[in-house]
Amino acid sequence: LPDRFVGNDKSVWVEYIQLALQHKPVNLGQGFPNFHAPENVRKALANAALNENPLLNQYTRGFGHPRLVNAIAALYSKLLSRKLDPTTEVIVTAGAYEALYAAIQGHTSPGDEWIIIEPFFDCYEPMIRTAGGIPKFIPLKPTKNSGIISSGDWMYDKNEMASLFNKRTKGIILNTPHNPLGKVFTHDELSFIADLAKKWNTLVVSDEVYEWMVYKPHEHIRIATLPDMYERTITIGSAGKTFSVTGWKIGWAYGPANLLKNLQVVHQNSLYTCSTPIQEAVAVGFEEELKKFGQPDCYFTSLAEELLEKRDFMAKFLADVGMAPTIPEAGYFMVANWTQLEKNVNLDEEQDEYKDYRFTKWMTKNVGLQGIPPSAFYSKEHKHLGEDNVRYCFIKVIVN
Ligand code: PMP
Ligand code: GLN
Repeated sequence: LPDRFVGNDKSVWVEYIQLALQHKPVNLGQGFPNFHAPENVRKALANAALNENPLLNQYTRGFGHPRLVNAIAALYSKLLSRKLDPTTEVIVTAGAYEALYAAIQGHTSPGDEWIIIEPFFDCYEPMIRTAGGIPKFIPLKPTKNSGIISSGDWMYDKNEMASLFNKRTKGIILNTPHNPLGKVFTHDELSFIADLAKKWNTLVVSDEVYEWMVYKPHEHIRIATLPDMYERTITIGSAGKTFSVTGWKIGWAYGPANLLKNLQVVHQNSLYTCSTPIQEAVAVGFEEELKKFGQPDCYFTSLAEELLEKRDFMAKFLADVGMAPTIPEAGYFMVANWTQLEKNVNLDEEQDEYKDYRFTKWMTKNVGLQGIPPSAFYSKEHKHLGEDNVRYCFIKVIVN
């Protein structure tokens, strides 16, 4: 293994997907829906593949299929109240994963520091390290420890945040709505970060894949819409999350042309281009939702409404069995403190270093319920902060 990958070889997904294949638990681990995506989007893919235009099954434009970049630019031009150029300010990638990878690879030189807010979607750290960057971590911590805890009660310390910015800081990776907590960053929290980014002239990479799964009255705020922030922000989205088609692996990034240029260079020298018929289908999906925008039957609105019932069911279920869930304001994950159950489980049967790994493995094998150990979403020095919790994906729960 080349030196730059040493120490980056462990993946909670590789391990837990294998565990699920082996033990066949109720799998509330990896996040994906277990129901059908909207029929119009699935039909659009069939139509693209069977289309009389043979070119819809051939290579398309490298930085994004024209119909898709046009649709993405149209949607976000509306949401940002700014005209995005589909050819230079949007790039289509193999899932949000590749957009993150291209943004980090394309903007990191050895020694550059990136700020990561914990818990964090686990790939941020290896992506930064393998690019030669240095991650600097700051945890969100619950500001309450009794009663009903909301994801909004998990906060970062402002002094600590300010202390991480310096002249070596290349940028900060923001994830709102947040995986795994479901936190929707408030205007105040985003402005504080935006002001620091401007003061220190840094980038913001904003991972917003859960932008359409926000529970009222909470509202998703795009940091790129804050004053003078578009110029320094790369925003990332996912068709998998937007249209409930995680197996399609199409994502995108948008932002100013000078910043997106670097992502194009990484993309053209790695994947070069993404699947044409899938991009065509996602484009059709966007065009149709844009026509329904703001109406109750628009998928951007209806998905969160369907999820709300599952969220409340899951929260009650977890509380009834003795866990203490954090109620998410968005997304399809729920983090719960499981330590009240410690007397009922035999953690000694598992060998892992961290207790949440032992708990989730024991539960998978003995109770048939799989969750994800949140310590996977913390840096080595802060893993203890995740050990008392478990993450469940509640989009798969069936409410009757
Ligand atoms: N960011 C976050 C916060 C995620 O939870 C995920 C997983 N869906 C991704 C990025 C990657 O998304 P995709 O499946 O589109 O690559
Ligand atoms: N984002 C999903 C999750 O957090 C999927 C992760 C993955 O595929 N690596 O569960």
